[in-house]
Amino acid sequence: MPERNASLRTQLIAVARRMTAAGLNRGTAGNLSVRAEEHGTAGFLITPTGMPYETLTPADLVFMHLDGSHAGLRKPSSEWRFHRDLYAARPEAGAVLHAHSPFAVSLACLRREIPPFHYMIARFGGDSVRCAAYATFGTQALSDAALAAMAERCACLLANHGMLVFGRDLDQAFALGIELEVLCEQYWRACQLGPPVLLEAAEMARVLEKFAGYGQQS
Ligand code: 13P
Ligand code: ZN
Repeated sequence: MPERNASLRTQLIAVARRMTAAGLNRGTAGNLSVRAEEHGTAGFLITPTGMPYETLTPADLVFMHLDGSHAGLRKPSSEWRFHRDLYAARPEAGAVLHAHSPFAVSLACLRREIPPFHYMIARFGGDSVRCAAYATFGTQALSDAALAAMAERCACLLANHGMLVFGRDLDQAFALGIELEVLCEQYWRACQLGPPVLLEAAEMARVLEKFAGYGQQS
């Protein structure tokens, strides 16, 4: 019998492997999901827990309903709660990416938000990327902290842990993950030389407005 959502499953595995190739993840850290429907029921496909992306086959991905139930071969990512909660709370989220990328983790270990040191911070919806309060991995408390930090944003850092972003689809979530890691690196580098000059609220508001109509809008 052909796999349900066969092309979406193939695409999810390809993007997961790009996360490793791009240095966003090493080993089995991180996870990735995409909004999907099976048998007319809303839910999402997510990477299985603790499996290296190179070994994944379409049948290893787990389809989860929004109530957290699932069937199939594998156990879902231990972080399915923040994926599920983002799909439930943020209708614009089509794909969710979590990574332990080096510069995001470094800043997250200082529990620092990223201020508007560069106009590209507005790409994530506001004039900062917040750092969510610490909670143990895989818990509802971590999901609650992450969703609070992502209010009006599509990204946050997770204290002493990593980054979390969502996009309208897998490609956009991946692009935003890369962009956030780049900004974390640039902020870290700038801080080596002294406190960066921050953009003012009025300028960030102008940039946010420009971003609303920026790019191909597809
Ligand atoms: P999973 O392998 O369960 O997705 O866990 C990886 C991770 O990053 C936990 O925070
Ligand atoms: Zn993690």
